[in-house]
Amino acid sequence: MLEDKNQQKTTLAELGEFGLIKHLTQYFKISQESTIKGIGDDCAVVFSEGKETLVTTDLLIEGVHFDLSYMPLKHLGYKAVMVNLSDVYAMNATAEQITVSIAVSNRFPLEALEELYAGIQLACETYNVDLIGGDTTSSTKGMLLSITAIGTAKKEDVVYRNTAKPTDLIVVSGDLGAAYLGLQVLEREKQVFQVDPQNQPDLENYTYLIERQLKPEARKDVAGVLAELNIKPTSMIDISDGLSSEIMHIATQSKVGCKIYEDKLPLDPQVISACEEFDIDSTMVALSGGEDYELLFTVPIADFDNIKGNPNFSIIGHITEENQGMNLVTRSGQEMELKAQGWSSFKED
Ligand SMILES: [Mg+2]
Repeated sequence: MLEDKNQQKTTLAELGEFGLIKHLTQYFKISQESTIKGIGDDCAVVFSEGKETLVTTDLLIEGVHFDLSYMPLKHLGYKAVMVNLSDVYAMNATAEQITVSIAVSNRFPLEALEELYAGIQLACETYNVDLIGGDTTSSTKGMLLSITAIGTAKKEDVVYRNTAKPTDLIVVSGDLGAAYLGLQVLEREKQVFQVDPQNQPDLENYTYLIERQLKPEARKDVAGVLAELNIKPTSMIDISDGLSSEIMHIATQSKVGCKIYEDKLPLDPQVISACEEFDIDSTMVALSGGEDYELLFTVPIADFDNIKGNPNFSIIGHITEENQGMNLVTRSGQEMELKAQGWSSFKED
């Protein structure tokens, strides 16, 4: 849990709640103009003239959403912020503030929370968001972590899920499936470690996969790249549960169908080799793996020349009429119905 196992352990009771918040947040700086008041009063105050405010919350529970036997606390803090910022970017908005609430059992010393907050602070600095509030309390078992992100966008810039149109191109940023495979590698190493604690894992062939699982980056850059190309997406969503369930959200809410081409799915070479090693179908991993935190969006077909060949994006299919359903076109040219197999259901298989 702690990176340095021999470091000192201060119990949280020694500081008290207000002392704890003050201690953990002392090095955070306010950088957004829209933050009127941060930590220190009954409420934080934010204001952006002439813009919409976007709010999203995520709750992470130890043993359900994260496993501290291979997730360092600093990474957990960073990733928990990414998960929320990704949702703000999926609306084509700018993330500006977060609040962080945690509940921890007495198994966690102050030094553990310092590591968690170091990850949160790194995320805040890297992505230029202010920590403006939150709560800390005790739990009877394990850690719970809830983050709320606040963003803004001009009304005309906000992109929703329910506005895709037939013939629109379906585009995804980055590549797919690596985070899921990173989790498989870490789970396997955990089991090896439980049998033989002396075993030193060799993870060199999986560096990209593990990084995608432990330290994902939200796609803050996509809005700027699209603006430069003069493209406004017609719909957008982030990939937390897996490509197929996300495209189905867009299609269902937009009352359209979709066609995804198997041979267009972007896969990193480490994903392909790990799929061979684990004997899993790479298409299945790309469609259902989840936790990629890439952006999935649709653009008018007129933008084809603008977006094709852009190294940030892959065109993986197109939107169809609703009565054509949601389909995957396989490498051999067969059409299969897309299945909504989110990350959680996939995991139980
Ligand atoms: Mg989302």
